[in-house]
Amino acid sequence: MAFDYDLFVVGGGSGGVRAARVAAAEGGARVGLAEASRMGGTCVIRGCVPKKLMVFASAFRGAFADARAFGWQLGAAGFDWAAFRGALRAEIDRLEGVYRGILARAGVAIHDDRAMLEDAHTVRLAAGGRVTARHILLATGGRPLRPAIPGAALGLVSDDIFELPALPDSILIVGGGYIASEFACILNGLGVRVTQAYRGAQILRGFDDEARGHVAQIMQASGIELRLGTDITALEAAPGGGVRAHTTLGAAETFGAVLFATGRAPDTAGLGLEAVGILPGRRGEIPVDDWSQTAVPSIYAVGDVTGRWALTPVAIREGQAFAETVFKANPVRATQALVPTAVFTQPELGSLGLTEEAAREAGPIEVYCAAFRPMHRAFAGRPEKALMKLIVCRSTRRVLGCHIVADQAGEMIQLAAVAIGMGATKEDFDRAVAVHPTMAEELVTMRNPVRVA
Ligand code: NDP
Repeated sequence: MAFDYDLFVVGGGSGGVRAARVAAAEGGARVGLAEASRMGGTCVIRGCVPKKLMVFASAFRGAFADARAFGWQLGAAGFDWAAFRGALRAEIDRLEGVYRGILARAGVAIHDDRAMLEDAHTVRLAAGGRVTARHILLATGGRPLRPAIPGAALGLVSDDIFELPALPDSILIVGGGYIASEFACILNGLGVRVTQAYRGAQILRGFDDEARGHVAQIMQASGIELRLGTDITALEAAPGGGVRAHTTLGAAETFGAVLFATGRAPDTAGLGLEAVGILPGRRGEIPVDDWSQTAVPSIYAVGDVTGRWALTPVAIREGQAFAETVFKANPVRATQALVPTAVFTQPELGSLGLTEEAAREAGPIEVYCAAFRPMHRAFAGRPEKALMKLIVCRSTRRVLGCHIVADQAGEMIQLAAVAIGMGATKEDFDRAVAVHPTMAEELVTMRNPVRVA
């Protein structure tokens, strides 16, 4: 049977764009791609990229405060949200153009349209028409979730933050994960009064206990009001404007806005999975094997929609592995054992491998940990400490986990991932000559374990 395309990709985010480009440019495939929203997906349009630019914007508050200690005379500083948002929009437009250019140069046919599955080789486009393809790749990503409580529609989700007409004077952020903690720091830095409510005992569940406690303590010291063991039961419009939040603890309170950062779900709405016999998993994800293949052999899926790590670099690898396997006769599995990650709180949390808690379960370990005031903070009279932590296996001496709380921890954990991925031992770290004066030198100068377990 003659197909319109060798590959049709549904979704123009990190995973879909990588797969489409490689299949077309390197695999010689005839590729079509449908994107219902803007090219670039969550990461570029309403995720990592605008978020990181907001992190930069908000970090100036601390920089201005420190500048005085370094001898700078500054006038009163004020943040102009409208000016920043305009620049942010222009940058996102530019990046969207870059993504479109990448696809066009690779010869990928772009359909700015919503696509749904009709059968194992056919996709229907919302604007009309059908296309057929030998292979179909689903890369539709995820979408933010609101909890099922009365008045939930009054709350914002992360997509909305970048488009706010004005910053609220105060905000209640619900959740304790990546997005809640990152936006708590961003908005606090931009001058919004931030309250973060999390239902559990400590934010950033799943990260090393000591590291997440350290982040939480600095966030609180920076002015964020953290309410642990607190959940939101209902929202209502406040008579004088703003949103009134009812919680499991204390009386109802009014905030300028409420942000739900209560997780994301695979975005499969209207995709027509039922039509082709793909049964979504418990969290709505599309089940795939190590090759990103679904239960229907001609249909593959990559990225957040598969319920694996919801991280851009992972989606890109999955897209690449798919294209290598199917279009370049180079079988590559999409599995990743060791995934470094960074939470862009202020300071950042960079993390890789096992937490102390998990490593302890697995066997005897040594814990190396240093908490110290970085040079620039000490000079500026700021009390916050950086934290560097290595978890070492007592029998093999291999570094099993690395956790860093510091400015630029994301940059540091990226490089630590190279060494740890190669199986570095504590003695390999010790052999590295320190770069002085840096924060990262602590990682190679920790002589004695603080604990053995
Ligand atoms: P997370 O899964 O990280 O956090 C969700 C938070 O919401 C958790 O604290 C969870 O609590 C809480 N929660 C869930 N449901 C409810 C509810 N019904 N009521 C109250 N609280 C609730 O999700 P995010 O939305 O923050 O981020 C989604 C994913 O996107 C991340 O897991 C990550 O993979 C990715 N991401 C990565 C970033 C990065 O690399 N820097 C940045 C942003 C996102 P509990 O812990 O109790 O379950």
